[in-house]
Amino acid sequence: MPFCQVCGALELVDFAGKVIPYAELWIPANEAIYAAPILIVHFIEVHNYLPPAEFIAAIDLLDDNVSFVADAVYREKLRQSEWGSLSGKEKMEFATSYNKNMAERD
Ligand SMILES: [Zn+2]
Repeated sequence: MPFCQVCGALELVDFAGKVIPYAELWIPANEAIYAAPILIVHFIEVHNYLPPAEFIAAIDLLDDNVSFVADAVYREKLRQSEWGSLSGKEKMEFATSYNKNMAERD
């Protein structure tokens, strides 16, 4: 559940009244995708937070007639990345090595 440092735990709902669990808002722009925690909506509405101008401009330029499925975009970018070219075994080896290195840092 989203948590505001000022207000505490928040129950955010969408326009249909459905509870939104912790999520990230992705705003596609020309050459980038802006990402923000869903909590940004609360910060704007309740705490008068003003996002950066380019973030607002990206929202203003959104076209309701153009579909944007963030999950599909994410999966495609992941597939195209170096990570996406690794086999399952290589991913496991990387994760094991990464976790070992992180544990040794602490
Ligand atoms: Zn708050």
